[in-house]
Amino acid sequence: MTLEIVTVPCRADNYAYLVKGPDGTCIIDAPDAAPIIATADRLGWTPGVLMITHHHGDHTEGTAALRDRYGLKVMGPKAEEDKLPPLDMALTEGMNGGNGEAYTVPLDVPGHTLGHMAFHFPNAAAIFTADSLMAWGCGRVFEGTMEMMHATMQKLAALPPETMIYSGHEYTLGNMKFALSLEPDNPALLKRAEKVKAQRERGEATVPVSLAEELETNPFLRCNTAELQKAVGMEGASPEAVFAEVRGRKDRF
Ligand code: ZN
Ligand code: FE
Repeated sequence: MTLEIVTVPCRADNYAYLVKGPDGTCIIDAPDAAPIIATADRLGWTPGVLMITHHHGDHTEGTAALRDRYGLKVMGPKAEEDKLPPLDMALTEGMNGGNGEAYTVPLDVPGHTLGHMAFHFPNAAAIFTADSLMAWGCGRVFEGTMEMMHATMQKLAALPPETMIYSGHEYTLGNMKFALSLEPDNPALLKRAEKVKAQRERGEATVPVSLAEELETNPFLRCNTAELQKAVGMEGASPEAVFAEVRGRKDRF
């Protein structure tokens, strides 16, 4: 059986996901319970697990209502356990679980928060990255260091390029404007811009997106390329230094 993944828009610009595999359905993040419950009801799915990526309220505030409704098991990063709703299972990297396409590999992706995790489904070529690697961007570095977030980007960049990235927000048009401000003539960026503008005009989510497309267009994954280094006037600089510069520019953009 193939993994079925449904994107659930929540709040102003958050995404939760419903993931149905051979052994049941899980929810990725709980921005808000109502739209998640409405979607699951419509599909006739009964979630048994909620997996939380990090402690920010826009990823956790629906947790209690989802637990009440479904009696589900709540899992989240052990490193953020003291800031999360009560967990039934505190996750660390290496606690892989599930079967077939639902086989799940929790990965540490710190930077945005110190304990942020992503949930990789290698047999389904999917990863839920929330506010680490985002479609055409990356999360703001709130708790970690620039070096830490750069290492997280490199860790995710090393996954198979066909992996589909499911991130936590619809920020893609803003990320597009920033990327184009650095490289206004890059044909790969211009091509992606047409695609995401059309998606948003149709009211569609711009996620998921393949890692291959991110590697070609996302400035935060291209800090080692001559093209991007030239665009920010840092030819020959270390990728870490370029990342810090690019992330800083995005913060001020
Ligand atoms: Zn966040
Ligand atoms: Fe968020």
